[in-house]
Amino acid sequence: MSENPEMILCEGHGEQPPSFVCLHLAESQPDDATIGFHWNCEGGDLLANCDACEAHAGDDGFLADDYFEENFVVICRSCFIEMAGANGVSSGAITEAEAAAQAGAA
Ligand SMILES: [Zn+2]
Ligand SMILES: [Zn+2]
Repeated sequence: MSENPEMILCEGHGEQPPSFVCLHLAESQPDDATIGFHWNCEGGDLLANCDACEAHAGDDGFLADDYFEENFVVICRSCFIEMAGANGVSSGAITEAEAAAQAGAA
């Protein structure tokens, strides 16, 4: 998690800031039954994981670094917002969280 995330190149959206999702969400299809979508914008990075990953979170609500490294992939911010939308999270809620994270970091 860096303060100046490098842009990534998405096939569908071009150059975008990176965000992070668990492999299970990354591999799920829009038509699949929902597997949970727990997201936050801690430190300005969008991150989401499924119910199964949420069960691995520690008492502090965070996932261990090694679990994160093994089970998460980078997707572009626009892909993240599309995935969130498929799980009932509005893009407005996400941009609000991003703004709040940036205000907190400033
Ligand atoms: Zn997961
Ligand atoms: Zn994308």
